[in-house]
Amino acid sequence: MSDESKIKIELPKEHEFRFDVPQNSTISLKQQLVEGTAEYFGTELALGVAYQFDNEKGAIFTWYPGCVLELVGNCKHYISSETMMKEYLNIHNILQQNRTTALNEKKRGPRVMMVGPTDAGKSTLSRILCNWAARRGSQTIFVDVDVGQGSITIPGMVAAQEMTQPTPIGRVEYTASNPLSYFYGAVTPSENIPLYKNQVENLARDIDARCDDNEGAVRSSGLIVNTCGWVEGPGYQLILHAIDTFKCDILLVIGHPQVYEDLNRTYGSRGVNVIQLPRSSGVSKRDQGYRRKARTEKIKHYFHGLSEDLTPHTVTLDFKDVVILKVTPSTQKGTRLMEITPSGEVTHCILGVTYHATSMENVLSNNLAGFLYVSEVNVEKQKITFSSPSPGPFPSSYLLMNSLRWLK
Ligand code: ADP
Repeated sequence: MSDESKIKIELPKEHEFRFDVPQNSTISLKQQLVEGTAEYFGTELALGVAYQFDNEKGAIFTWYPGCVLELVGNCKHYISSETMMKEYLNIHNILQQNRTTALNEKKRGPRVMMVGPTDAGKSTLSRILCNWAARRGSQTIFVDVDVGQGSITIPGMVAAQEMTQPTPIGRVEYTASNPLSYFYGAVTPSENIPLYKNQVENLARDIDARCDDNEGAVRSSGLIVNTCGWVEGPGYQLILHAIDTFKCDILLVIGHPQVYEDLNRTYGSRGVNVIQLPRSSGVSKRDQGYRRKARTEKIKHYFHGLSEDLTPHTVTLDFKDVVILKVTPSTQKGTRLMEITPSGEVTHCILGVTYHATSMENVLSNNLAGFLYVSEVNVEKQKITFSSPSPGPFPSSYLLMNSLRWLK
């Protein structure tokens, strides 16, 4: 089959059409719905619209008979009747009831957390539940504390975003509007556990404030929290910390019976609903190389756009006009920031720019305005050059640095 061959696929009711467009390939897949109804991870496909997928593994699902898809492009694909969508829908229905009760009683809505190893399907289930909620007019806050794959801003940050609309399908430009994002600056929580916990607490504080400021849909729609796949030892302790910090009342434990037992023992008696789910057979395993590449791609999209049609601004500043604060390995007490003089060490780093930082003390607890990439440091001329999505001036001269680098 050539890349441009067109095939028609009849997708039976309650089946998934699963596909895998590989990384590092020039294949992209165009799919469209020509008859019936279908959805992609909770977002409805429009009839007759071609959706393009690159570097993506996914599944189109239909609830009804009569779904016909048309495919242009070539990649591995198959149809499966093994789907978790009905179980997910039951959970969604419980959440919608809780949201209605919360709205009527002027209370906070359900706070749901995904727990499970990597490649369990946590991000996918988060996306499905957020999309279904948005289709019902809810305004769930999606919280992503998975610093390895962080999907809201760039990897390495803990962040949250109101989901007022379903996520667009396939290869489309999509930037989170008005996200809350806190600087962590590394891709594993183990690198600096006190800082990670600190930033989760800062995020939760601002989410609570946003919920309590809004008496309507935001407060009553609740949270969907996605976590990283580190569920052993210190990773498990971080899960407990996140459950308590976000005050979660529903835990969805995917593909890890032991963690389910442990969480149920601890939280079941405290009124938390702990639900065990098997891993969907469609979820793919992704190796370290895949994850690394996916991270690099996300950073590239931030600066260059999805189609690489955006050119970031090049901004050169004098050393004296910036304060680079490097996160130092922390003590149990907390994190220290150390002001550093720019040098070769800073080249290729991704720095966080905060809003309204007036002093070094509160700089880490501030929401981030955006990110800069350090392309050059000229020690002789005392100049530092950044790539930036905005031309500047930046909202604060404090720039946060940790180990996150972009090696193109
Ligand atoms: P986790 O967040 O637990 O690491 P993900 O939700 O990111 O796992 O799932 C891993 C990969 O499997 C993703 O690329 C996702 O798109 C894919 N995937 C998830 N569910 C399905 C499915 N039903 N069919 C095909 N691919 C799927």
